[in-house]
Amino acid sequence: MEVRWYLPQRDLTVAIVVFLFYFHMYDANKRELEALKFWESDKTFERSVSSRPENNPYVFYDGPPFATGLPHYGHIVASVMKDVVPRYWTMQGKRVERVWGWDCHGLPIENIVEKEMGTKSKKEIEEMGVDVFNEKCRSKVLSYVSDWQKTIHRLGRWVDMEHAYRTMDNDYMESVWWVFKQLWEKDLVYQDYRSMHICPRCETTLSQQEVSEGYKDVKDISVYVKFKVTNAKEKLGIDGDVFILAWTTTPWTLPGNVALAVGGEIPYSVLQVNQDIERYSLKKGNIIILADGAINQVLKLNEGESFKPIKIQELGSTFVNLKYEPLFPYYKDTPNAFRVVAGDFVTTTDGTGVVHIAPAFGDDDFKVGKRENIPLVHHVGMDGKFKPDVTDFAGQEVKPRSDDDKVRLSSDIAVLKYLQEHNLFFAKQNLVHSYPHCWRCDTPLLNYATSSWFVNVTKIKDQALEEAKKINWSPEHIKEGRFGKWLEGARDWSISRQRFWATTMPVWQSTDGDFICVGSVKELEELSGQKVEDLHKHVLDKVTFEKNGKTYTRVPDVLDTWFDSGSMPYAQVHYPFENKEKFEAGFPAEFIAEGQDQTRAWFYYLHVLGTALKGTPAFKNVIVNGIVLAEDGKKMSKKLKNYPDPMGVIEKYGADAVRYYLVSSPVMHAENLNFAEAGVREVYSKLINTLWNCFEFYKMFADEYVLPLKKGKKLHVLDTWILSKLQFLVKEVTENMEAYKLTEASRPIMEFVTELSQWYVRRSRDRFKGDDLEDKKNALSTLQEVFLTLSKLMAPFTPFIAEELWSELKGMNNEVIESVHLGTWPTVEAEYMNEKVLQEMETVRKLVEMGLSLRSEAKVKVRQPLAQFRLFQTNLSLELKNILAEELNVKEVVEVTSDKGEWLEKTEGEVRVALNVEVTEELKKEGYVRELVRAINQIRKEQNLTVSDMVRLEYETNENLLAEVLEAYKNEIQQDVLAESIKIGNGIQEVEIDGMKLKVTLIKV
Ligand SMILES: [Zn+2]
Repeated sequence: MEVRWYLPQRDLTVAIVVFLFYFHMYDANKRELEALKFWESDKTFERSVSSRPENNPYVFYDGPPFATGLPHYGHIVASVMKDVVPRYWTMQGKRVERVWGWDCHGLPIENIVEKEMGTKSKKEIEEMGVDVFNEKCRSKVLSYVSDWQKTIHRLGRWVDMEHAYRTMDNDYMESVWWVFKQLWEKDLVYQDYRSMHICPRCETTLSQQEVSEGYKDVKDISVYVKFKVTNAKEKLGIDGDVFILAWTTTPWTLPGNVALAVGGEIPYSVLQVNQDIERYSLKKGNIIILADGAINQVLKLNEGESFKPIKIQELGSTFVNLKYEPLFPYYKDTPNAFRVVAGDFVTTTDGTGVVHIAPAFGDDDFKVGKRENIPLVHHVGMDGKFKPDVTDFAGQEVKPRSDDDKVRLSSDIAVLKYLQEHNLFFAKQNLVHSYPHCWRCDTPLLNYATSSWFVNVTKIKDQALEEAKKINWSPEHIKEGRFGKWLEGARDWSISRQRFWATTMPVWQSTDGDFICVGSVKELEELSGQKVEDLHKHVLDKVTFEKNGKTYTRVPDVLDTWFDSGSMPYAQVHYPFENKEKFEAGFPAEFIAEGQDQTRAWFYYLHVLGTALKGTPAFKNVIVNGIVLAEDGKKMSKKLKNYPDPMGVIEKYGADAVRYYLVSSPVMHAENLNFAEAGVREVYSKLINTLWNCFEFYKMFADEYVLPLKKGKKLHVLDTWILSKLQFLVKEVTENMEAYKLTEASRPIMEFVTELSQWYVRRSRDRFKGDDLEDKKNALSTLQEVFLTLSKLMAPFTPFIAEELWSELKGMNNEVIESVHLGTWPTVEAEYMNEKVLQEMETVRKLVEMGLSLRSEAKVKVRQPLAQFRLFQTNLSLELKNILAEELNVKEVVEVTSDKGEWLEKTEGEVRVALNVEVTEELKKEGYVRELVRAINQIRKEQNLTVSDMVRLEYETNENLLAEVLEAYKNEIQQDVLAESIKIGNGIQEVEIDGMKLKVTLIKV
């Protein structure tokens, strides 16, 4: 495709043929691939690091992604940030080492392997052999590495992927052990038995953060249950069948019921039925107990039905120690069970004001059970199935994962049926509520009392909050918002997992319950007297040792994968076993960047461990990006194919355009971005291609050595203007980069390039003809300065075209630095800052706008020259008036204090202008000249003639007026269309001017 890039938008032409060039579009893909080759062979990245002094480091931590899937736009966004910032600081003279990392452990890879092997439960894995399973995970974990390398490389991100750290390597895991032992020695690790969330399919506990990932609305059945009181006569002095009503949203927990809780201060009623009520399975004379506040929402009475209050407004404490018959026989001999207790968590907002208690399946329940000394009843196993004790439902999954509600609720329905058959059912109700699911496998989680290891975050929380104040967040609101709130609400971190492929928990336990925490391989080798070559579970579970006559075996748990990622600053350099000084000199990191989901995850865990180990944050500056959505605002979905393939977009518009599009978008403000290919295209055309065309234009005239700009020289006002703009641009980009505001840093660049093209280059065209040689030289020097500075300013954002500009400029300018990325960041040249000129130019552009609107009002084309434009008191310099005259295509711009008001006028605020819109015969002819020149140059273009091709022009016409014009303005036309001669002859191509026809022939000479 070809474009005539430089023609004024309004096709205003004081046409000079030399400007009638049309360049090819910038072939981004081709040029970028060449740049990549150059960087590779030149080892530019390596040199950009090694050429900076070791004692001036800028430390950046890379959050490791999983290589278990292909890179998507989210990764590309993160990679762009992680490239832009380090490139900037490199140019500021810092040594910025960048090493890639891979997250290798945990459920994502385990689930993939499980799917492949077809295992359905943990038991099957154990039967197959943990060693087989783990080795399979090891072999699969890096399966997408080459795809990642390809994408990251093509994106132009400089990072050392060859020496990437991997969380599954022994050195890495050894440092993780060291981190663990630090916590252990600071008494920040403990084991406890408490109510946790587990995934019954993965059969493991999850952390608070993991649980928070998976909430979604689901339909459930809630049930009202009648518990038959056995000591009503003795405790309340009431005869007859007395039932206490309780409510639950998890019917599957009812076989584990061991108590009922009432609010001690809440009023309750005792009511007697006046007749049989079948739907509630109540007989005449039956008595029920429930909270006063719940009566209206629970009891829906039909005509004739009524209740006789026996007691009203009786405090809950009255009912404590009522006993009741167990609903199910399975655990009927549980000591201290099946009675009413008090609980301060009871409310009457939902249900009956009586809470069913199953201590193994809820936080409050667990606490009540402990307080009341009721043994834990686990009627469901970690695998989420009813235990064999529960004979009626044994082996059934309590909350199967299914999209079919009937399947998902099958156990709840079975329990309900049982209740109905045994006259224990009162009523049921469907409800939709937010319920947690496994973030990895989508199985509904269960609240489950089990033993887990914790990091005591609560103990260091005040310090962590204090230290967090030192972190600079971009955008700022995350600091007190998402991150601050999460930190304030942080609970202890459950770090043990009952899984296989992960860093092992380095704790060994003796049979009498004594623990030894091991902090290094050497320590374990000394204790066990054997060589330890792999720190994974299948190897370490076999490593036991004796100490003081006791045998120690490993606590079989593995660590939360976030413990790996949070330990990354230490583990990536195998600290403290190696690189001690280097690590300490570079901690905390200057900069990290990830998506906003990491505020509860990686950012948080880095901070917790940084505070615990070093008493400081782990990072000083952080940029948080938002989510990239499909153009329609929906989640990007492979199934729906609602977004373009990232590599395809890069190949089409170049990585520069994609990078700039993302870095200047709201996604850098942690906001959502609806990714639009049209947006990338726009960046390509407005920034990349426009800049390139300006540069091609420059090259056309810079055929000889262009002198560097000399300070103190008298320059054309356009030069002064663009140089001043350039300084303000340097200032703005630099300030925002220092503040880690990438959007604010990048956006002004495109605005600048637009001004450069649409105003400076366009308005300077005449100057390049060389009528005034000194002025031409100045214009070229100015443009050269602009491109040199721009290439540096753009280098972090659009590294390819920046390099392209530099590589051409350095040849012209004898620059010794081979790559712009090895160069230094530009500084503001204060002597070029000229706010007065910026303001004046602003005024000129305003006047142009007003003049053009007058032309359009009078319906006179811009191509038609007009006589005069009047200004009222503006004090413009002659230079600026000339610019104005050219832009408006008027013979002269005159400044006046008053006039007779005979012309078309316009006033805006203080500014008043007038335009003489009368087209005289003479002006009309001049207009024809312009039309002719334009039409002939169009033919030149069609014939693919270049700037150096001269032609002979022949024409034939019956229009005397046109012939007259051609004769009268011969010289001017010849010059403007690069014709040696113009004469009457044979015409081939037809041209129409103002309804008059003419045929012309161009013969190349
Ligand atoms: Zn799961």
